[in-house]
Amino acid sequence: MAFTCATGKHRRPSRVKRTTTNAVGVAALTTTGVIGALAAPAFAAGTPVEQTGLIRAVSMGDEVAAKIDAQAAAQKQAAELKKAEEAARKRAAEKAAQERAAKVRAAREAERRRLNAFVAPIFHSYVSTGYKTGGSLWSSGSHTGIDFHAASGTPVHAVGSGTVVETGWGGAYGNQIVIRMNDGTYTQYGHLSSIGVSAGQRVTPGQPIALSGATGNVTGPHLHFEARTSPEYGSDMDPVAYLRAHGVNV
Ligand SMILES: [Zn+2]
Repeated sequence: MAFTCATGKHRRPSRVKRTTTNAVGVAALTTTGVIGALAAPAFAAGTPVEQTGLIRAVSMGDEVAAKIDAQAAAQKQAAELKKAEEAARKRAAEKAAQERAAKVRAAREAERRRLNAFVAPIFHSYVSTGYKTGGSLWSSGSHTGIDFHAASGTPVHAVGSGTVVETGWGGAYGNQIVIRMNDGTYTQYGHLSSIGVSAGQRVTPGQPIALSGATGNVTGPHLHFEARTSPEYGSDMDPVAYLRAHGVNV
């Protein structure tokens, strides 16, 4: 009995203590009028944290913290997404700008090449009389240019970029055009049936400037073409070598 009692005594205090603790806890809660406030509906109704007691307040604090954490995470994610989208937009815009710039550069380069290129004055033709060919037909005693085979009315083209410096009647050359080329040399086109440009006009490679003919001192229609170091007669140079030096296949 004593043993049991002892045991009981041993156990009892702890039970009593627990009970007492519980009772005190409930009493404490009751005195603050929190029991009713602990019901979930009261929380749903938005009971202020200060009136809900410590236990519930801690629990709600966790919920709020979790909500805030989740909200912060969502905001952070949204901000990161926005940042990534902006970066992607920026990259796409930069790429588009680079592509536009590359296109402009390529177009400029193509135009530069086109303007620096040389062509034959008569397309799909051939040299029918060579440079320095002797004969009584030429006042100098020899041919100061080359003749391109061409029926009357065949389009004559500027061989390269330049500025027209002279148009009109050129005596033995008939109707002629003289162009100062961009590299400082001159080209001359003779025996024309019609002239399509005027002095001061800028021309580009292959631009039609006249129609071929048989004006001046000729035995038949053709284009007389000269390359010169100056606009004057007598400053001629080898037109075939000149055209070939500029990449023209003659
Ligand atoms: Zn000639």
